[in-house]
Amino acid sequence: MRLYLVSGNRHKFQEIERLLPEGFDLDLITSIIPGKSVVEDAGTFYGNALKKIEAYRNSGVYLLSDDSGLVIDALGGFPGVNSARFMEGASYRDKMLEILARMKGEKKRTARFVCAALFYDYSGGLLGVEGSVEGRIAPGISGTEGFGYDPIFIPDGYDRTFGQLGYEVKNRLSHRAIAFKKLFSLVCLYNGQV
Ligand code: IMP
Repeated sequence: MRLYLVSGNRHKFQEIERLLPEGFDLDLITSIIPGKSVVEDAGTFYGNALKKIEAYRNSGVYLLSDDSGLVIDALGGFPGVNSARFMEGASYRDKMLEILARMKGEKKRTARFVCAALFYDYSGGLLGVEGSVEGRIAPGISGTEGFGYDPIFIPDGYDRTFGQLGYEVKNRLSHRAIAFKKLFSLVCLYNGQV
């Protein structure tokens, strides 16, 4: 079964590809259809993941979408659903420096990454799940692996950031791994594969 990911983010693609069950393969939707711009203003991770699916709903292929972000308790959930759009155009280093500045002197550093993952069967069926990973905001930027805010997020049970821990560890713990493992079990059931 071939699935098409509605995303231009190569890092997400690589993480999700490594979670695929046997008998599935993954491609980017932009490999068969020109990219469309999706305004991600739904206000929830699910809502934005749905907007991505809606943009390609008439493609006639099985679709996957992922909307995700970093939720920081001391900042009232910021940047949350605005994780990608916050300081749009700036580098992730600058975005992380801004977050660290806002967290300066803050003792409560708890945070989580959240991922809403959707599967759309072009005949009309839609499956959706959410995954999250709890952790804390690091005192500084550490590590060069992964993407986005990985260098400032330390998952619970570790003392290094996702940026230091690398793909193999991240893909065992992450919000995306939790969400897509759940989603793929449902897709297998849906598809009569179990
Ligand atoms: P999306 O592509 O609209 O879902 O935006 C997600 C944004 O949230 C990304 O651009 C990153 O800023 C952040 N984000 C989501 N997942 C991760 C992750 O696994 N690591 C680091 N940052 C992430």
